[in-house]
Amino acid sequence: MPDTGLHLAITLFIIASCMSGEELKPAIGLIPFGLLCDLDSLFGIHRATLHNVFIIALPLIFMAVPQLRDKIKLRWLALADILIASHILLDAFYNGVFLFYPLSVDNYNLRFWFGLNEAGPGISFSWFVPGNVEEVHYAVKPSPSVPEIGIISNGIELIILVSAIFSFIMRFLAPFTRARSP
Ligand SMILES: [Zn+2]
Repeated sequence: MPDTGLHLAITLFIIASCMSGEELKPAIGLIPFGLLCDLDSLFGIHRATLHNVFIIALPLIFMAVPQLRDKIKLRWLALADILIASHILLDAFYNGVFLFYPLSVDNYNLRFWFGLNEAGPGISFSWFVPGNVEEVHYAVKPSPSVPEIGIISNGIELIILVSAIFSFIMRFLAPFTRARSP
């Protein structure tokens, strides 16, 4: 999977670009939605149980709680959905996800390439669906292809995460400190 640090960075970028500087509390409350899919590495089937299209309905549960229904804005729920979808999409580009689990055990493994080669400029996109029951078994028992949950694996991810944290701080904390200063 992409490392947790990369998921966190994308989450912070999306929140910082979609919310106003006065929404610090809901912004912090939305951060877990970009990360929670990976809880299925602790239970269920990793890349399946919480990495499918049906999990995008999860934020609607909050609307069922009367005490929360009036306080939560629809825009925040939509953003929670976007964060969950961004996590699943990012994973789909890295070894794939079981997008329609439990109705299907096909593993959607996306590929995208854009650049120059000896034939000139080129672009390609494809999705492999090699999944079968064995693929689910492979996801339950991590093989060398899914050996661990990394936080940050290299300097590129570190720079991206630091940039995302900086964007988040500039969006939400800078207005807060400005308002407090005389
Ligand atoms: Zn994941």
